[in-house]
Amino acid sequence: MDTLIKNNTFIDEDKINDLISKKTVLKERANEILNKAMLANGLTLEESAELLNIEDEEILEKLFKAAKIIKEKIYGKRIVLFAPLYASNVCTNNCVYCAFRRDNKNIERKILTPAEVVEEAKAIMRMGHKRIILLTGEDYKDTGLDYLQEIMDRIYKAKELNGEIRRINVNIAPLSVEDFKRLNTFGIGTYQVFQETYHKETYVKVHPSGKKANYEWRLEAMDRAIEAGINDLGIGPLFGLADYKFETLATLMHAEYMDKIGVGPHTISVPRIEHAQGVEFSDNPPAQMSDRDFKKLVSVIRLAVPYTGMVLSTRETPQLRREIIELGISQISAASQTNPGGYHVYKSATSQFKTGDNRSLEDMVVELCEHGFLPSFCTSCYRVGRVGRKFMEHAKTGHIHTYCEPNALATFKEYLLDYAAEKTKLLGEKVIAQHLTEIEEPEMQELAKKQLNAIIQGKRDLHV
Ligand code: SAM
Ligand code: SF4
Repeated sequence: MDTLIKNNTFIDEDKINDLISKKTVLKERANEILNKAMLANGLTLEESAELLNIEDEEILEKLFKAAKIIKEKIYGKRIVLFAPLYASNVCTNNCVYCAFRRDNKNIERKILTPAEVVEEAKAIMRMGHKRIILLTGEDYKDTGLDYLQEIMDRIYKAKELNGEIRRINVNIAPLSVEDFKRLNTFGIGTYQVFQETYHKETYVKVHPSGKKANYEWRLEAMDRAIEAGINDLGIGPLFGLADYKFETLATLMHAEYMDKIGVGPHTISVPRIEHAQGVEFSDNPPAQMSDRDFKKLVSVIRLAVPYTGMVLSTRETPQLRREIIELGISQISAASQTNPGGYHVYKSATSQFKTGDNRSLEDMVVELCEHGFLPSFCTSCYRVGRVGRKFMEHAKTGHIHTYCEPNALATFKEYLLDYAAEKTKLLGEKVIAQHLTEIEEPEMQELAKKQLNAIIQGKRDLHV
C-alpha cells in the first residue's frame, strides 16, 4: 500500500479495514443502533460498519424495516425520474470494466453532433422526461467544455410537444478548479462523478492508463468542484471492484469529509458492474456481491445519511429495483439507453453496459403507482436556488416535504395529461387525489390544488 497516499487522504483505509474485520453485531447492539437511526440524525462510521456486519436474517429484516421507515419519513412516497443521455463513447482511458475503454476494438465510436444531441433529447422529451444526466467518455480533443456548453445550451432551448428538459445533471470526468468554474456557468444541476473504487490498490489495477489512472485526481474531484463553487454534487462507488463493505464505508467517509469542507453530497449512487460488450472483466468482476448484501448496504447508507438522495439506475432488474426502491432510493432512471444515439439517431450503437430493466417510462410510472409511490418529474430546487447547504437546511427541518409534494403532484399531472395512455391516467389520477388529501398544511394543500387546476387549464412548469 502506498503510505504517502494513506497519510494524505481523507480515505483512511486502515480504519475501514479495522471496522469491517470486527465480528458480527449482536442482536442487542443492533437494536440499539437501529433505535438511534430512527431519530433520523444519521450514524457514525463505526455504527454503519456494525450494521454492515449483520449476518443474522432476523436482524437484517429489522434493518430493512428501519430503512423503509426512515426513507418514508424523509422522502414520503415520491420517486423522481430521469434518463441518461450519452453524447459520446470516445474515450482516452482504459477502465477494464467499460465498453468505451480505449483498447476495445469491438465497438463503433460516435461523438454526436450538437444537432444529434438535440434529436436524442427530443426523443427523451417525447417520453415525458424533464430531467436528464449527460455523459461522455473522457476525450479532451473533441468533447471538451466548448462542446459541453454548446450541447447543454441547445438542449435547454429545445422544445418538444408540451415539454422541455428542465434540469441537466452531468457525469463527466473530473476537471481542474478553473474548468469546474466554467462548467458551473452552464446551468448544470448535479455534478456527478463516481470514484469507481476507493480502494487504492484496486483502483490502480483497474485503471491502467489515461488520465483516470491517477487515483488522487479523481478522489479530489469534489474538493476542486467545491472550491469552484459547485454545491450540488453526486458521488458513488462502482460496486464489484472491491469489497462492498469497504466501498460503502469509504463512500460514507467521503460524504462526511465533503460536509466538513463545504457541502455534503446531494446524492449517492449505487451502480454495480454489468456486462459490457467486448469486455470479459465485466462478466466476472472480482468483488461481486449478492442481492442480499446489496439491499443491506442500501439500507445502511439510508440510515447513515438520511438526507442524502440515493440514485438507482436501470442496471438492476425490475424485481430487485422494486425491493431496493423501498429501502431508500429517491431517484431512479427509466427507459435508459447507454449508447450515444440510443434513443433515436443511432439506435443500434454499442451500449456502455447492459441494462437489467428495459421497461418504458410509462410502464415504470404504472408500477410506481401500483406500489403506492408518487412519480415525480420535479426540477424545482435548483431552479429556485434551494441547493447545497440551503437544500440541507430545508431537508433537515422537514420543510422539504412542503415544496416537494405540490411539485411532484404538478409535474405528475403534466405527465398524465401530455404523455400517458387512458388507463395510466385513471390510475395516476387516483394517486394524485390520494396524495392531495395527505398534504397536512391547509395552505400547501390549497396551493397544490391551484397548481393542478392551472395545469388542467393548459399551464405548464409550475413549481414552488
Ligand atoms: N467517462 C467518465 C468517467 O468515467 O468519469 C464519465 C462517466 S462514464 C460514461 C459513467 C459511469 O459508468 C462510470 O463512472 C462507471 O462507474 C460506469 N460504468 C462503466 N462501465 C460499467 C459497467 N460495465 N457496468 C456498470 N457501470 C459501468
Ligand atoms: Fe472512459 Fe468513463 Fe468508460 Fe472509463 S468509465 S473507459 S473513463 S467512459
